[in-house]
Amino acid sequence: MRSTLLPYGRQWLDGEDLAAVASALLSDFLTTGPRVAEFERQFASFVGAPHAVAVSSGTAALHSAMGALGIGPGDEVIVPAITFAASANCVVFQGGVPVFADVDPGTLLIDPQSVENRLSARTRAVIAVDYAGQPCDYSRLREVVSAAKLALISDGCHAIGARDGEQLVGSVADMTAFSLHPVKHITTGEGGVVTTGSESVARAMRRFRNHGIESDSRERELAGTWRYEMIELGYNYRLTDFQCALGMTQLGKLPGWLARRRAIAAMYDAAFADLRGVRPLDRRPGTLHAYHLYVVRLDLEYLGTDRATVYRALREEGIGVNVHYIPVHLHSYYVKRFGTRRGMCPNAEAAYEEIITLPLFPRMSDEDVRDVIDAVNKVTRVLRARPRG
Ligand SMILES: *Cc1c(COP(=O)(O)O)cnc(C)c1O
Repeated sequence: MRSTLLPYGRQWLDGEDLAAVASALLSDFLTTGPRVAEFERQFASFVGAPHAVAVSSGTAALHSAMGALGIGPGDEVIVPAITFAASANCVVFQGGVPVFADVDPGTLLIDPQSVENRLSARTRAVIAVDYAGQPCDYSRLREVVSAAKLALISDGCHAIGARDGEQLVGSVADMTAFSLHPVKHITTGEGGVVTTGSESVARAMRRFRNHGIESDSRERELAGTWRYEMIELGYNYRLTDFQCALGMTQLGKLPGWLARRRAIAAMYDAAFADLRGVRPLDRRPGTLHAYHLYVVRLDLEYLGTDRATVYRALREEGIGVNVHYIPVHLHSYYVKRFGTRRGMCPNAEAAYEEIITLPLFPRMSDEDVRDVIDAVNKVTRVLRARPRG
């Protein structure tokens, strides 16, 4: 048994990161300076997108995308039931209505058929979530949204570096939101990015992150003018220059970290291939997974127990397991405000009872990985052998 709890995810910072942040802190610009544009250029290039807009969180990234689309009262946006609440909240921020689609039972990715079933005359967009780091079925989703003339947005907060066929997440959808929270692939403390192929959409999001003002303070300084115009309501969603400095050094390490995440996932796959009682999520053929999360489904009937017991037993072994996610439509806020209820997304609700997330982050040693595998073996064996009553 481990002496300290192994968390399910964790950031990794080193001296190079600290030096870059220190140098930005001592420069002329703490915010709205040259490092923001430089980080945006590097990020866009990493995901193969023409434009990237850096903002203060993944949630701000999603909200900026909704703002640029002009989502407003009465508009419906389809989101999957299994995701972090922010994927749906961003619609509510704009006065819109999130409509929950069910997920594929094997991958837990949004089910394009369910999306089609949820379309109405008020539907404006679909937000696809690349759950756990695996890209959604973008070709099917594109067919559905094109036929109905909707926007296709990706919540790619789990999936930087993932590919659907030849296309990188970040360049497949009309806009893609990323998070730079410490538990994600790379971090700026808090932070987010939206990528897009459209220059006018990028411009709208730059305005949205800066109070709805057309120019920024540095542009006005350079043009020698105090005049500016606020043309719509916006927010302060800016990301600082010292965070962008950190974002750039982190981005440099990302290819190696993605390889390490994939290697750890392969060790888990091999270890669980013949273990009854746990089953990794299905993989979509023709995709490259980014492995933000390693999620397994428990065979609770075989184990003769419930998920909470497995969760507690693994925690007692020092393994910091977690659950991603409580279906969003079952949160009391959504039940009260939008009348959502159990039974609306049966695949998501059934999966929720059985899923558990195992630790996965690049700094884990092979020994940490073996500790997780040993604990899963032990806990499933002990629970299975327990007398039933
Ligand atoms: C982390 C996350 C977000 C929100 O990102 P923050 O940076 O924490 O605001 C949104 N959607 C998904 C799927 C996420 O995992």
